[in-house]
This record gives sequence, C-alpha cells and structure tokens, in this order.
Amino acid sequence: MRRVRVKVKHNMKLFSKVSANRQLILTRNTLRGLANLVSATYRLYMRQKPRWGSFTPNRTLAAHRTILEANYNNPMMEDIKSEIRQNGKDSGDCPFCGFGEITDVDHFLPSSSYPEYSIYTNNLIPSCHRCNNLKNNSGLVNFHPYFDNVINSEFLVCNLTNKRQTVLFSGRFSIDYSLLTTTESSLVNDVYGKLDLIERFESVVTNHVEGIRTDYDKIRNFVTIQIFLQSHYDSKLQLHGPNHYKTATAKSLLNNVSLLSTIW
Ligand SMILES: [Zn+2]
Repeated sequence: MRRVRVKVKHNMKLFSKVSANRQLILTRNTLRGLANLVSATYRLYMRQKPRWGSFTPNRTLAAHRTILEANYNNPMMEDIKSEIRQNGKDSGDCPFCGFGEITDVDHFLPSSSYPEYSIYTNNLIPSCHRCNNLKNNSGLVNFHPYFDNVINSEFLVCNLTNKRQTVLFSGRFSIDYSLLTTTESSLVNDVYGKLDLIERFESVVTNHVEGIRTDYDKIRNFVTIQIFLQSHYDSKLQLHGPNHYKTATAKSLLNNVSLLSTIW
C-alpha cells in the first residue's frame, strides 16, 4: 500500500465536456439533467472517504447506470486516463500491491455499482492489471491511495528458507499483528486478503532473492556480506517503505547473514 499524489481536476467541467461529446441528443440532455445530482455525489465522496466499505450507491443515478458508465469510454477520457497512469508511474509501482507495473486505471468505487463516479478523477486510480482484476472480483478495499494514510510500522515479515540445500530460497510472508492497532489490523486483512498479497509476494520472492545474490556476486571482493545486506535493506526501506515485499525480504536476509554467508 502506498500513497499517490492527487492531481486536482475540475471534475464538473470534465463531466460537462464528456456529456456534451456524447453522440445522441437524448443522452446529452439526460446527462445535462443529472449534472446537479452528480455534483452533489462528488461532494459526498470527499466527505465519506474514511468509510469506503459502507459507501451507498445513489439510487436515482443507478437508474441511469448505462449512460453514466459509458462516459468512461468516451474519447474525451483518453488523455485523462494516460495522465492518471503517468501520475502513478512517476512515483513508482501499483499503489495497492506495491510491486505490479501500472498498466490500468482502476475505479476505486466500481462503476458497475457506482456509475456516478465513472469519470470522477478522485475515483480513478493508477494500478496494475492484477490488482484491478482482483478488485473487480472482490469489491471494495478499504485503502484509497489518494486519501488514506499508509501504516508506518514494519508489520510485513518474511521468512526465507533453503530447505533443499540449494542456493534457491523460498519465502513465507506473514503479518506481525502485535505492531498494529485493531483498526490497522482490519485494514491490512481487508487489503491483503482481497488482493491475495501474501500469495503474490511468495510467488516472486525466489527470483527476487536470486537477483540480489547475483548483485552481491559482482561486488563481493569489495565489501563484506553484512555491509552489503545492511545497505541493501536501507535502500529498499527508503525506496519502497517498510511493508514492501522487497523491504521485508531484505530484512530477512540481514537477519540470516550467517546462514547466507555459507551459501554465497
Ligand atoms: Zn497491484
């Protein structure tokens, strides 16, 4: 989970522009008639934000779901979508999982249930394809990358093993709940559960450690393994924050220096 800086947009101006660009006169008129109600739901979004899971769809606007949802596919939205993806890429990887490449624009409140926010830019989040898909299947997650605070305590734990006595490590990830408040615990369970994060971290960790080992091999004549692993951990912490799978892996390596030095 990481924050993305919000790019402030004139959302009602965008709504008018996209509405005016619809082909059918009837559709244009309907959208014009809905503008005040849409404007009110935009304001509600900002007031309601600490309680995403209990967000109520607007019934009147739900009756116009098809028209409102289709606004998202209007050619007028193409530049906006590119800008949102670029905005996410400028500050790193997918804000939900922390490691997927940003390829998609996710509707934070899904447009099938909340068509009133189909082109509301505060609801459009740069994300990786996998998180976007998983969010579509599992519904709302309670972490909004534009507005919600990230948890600063280092709760993600990685345990590396190489049981087969090879240089290949497998990793098991877990959550240290003793570091979290009750609210933080339920947030972590919600996001990690719905986005399969533990399983996804475990599927990439072996290759990741193999990459670190290769890096270390290149410089092993110059530094001791302990110094290398400490600076590796420091850089991951600074780059990705405390609960990225790479930071947790780096910490696990640092705690296993004696084991590792026999293998490397
Ligand atoms: Zn992702």
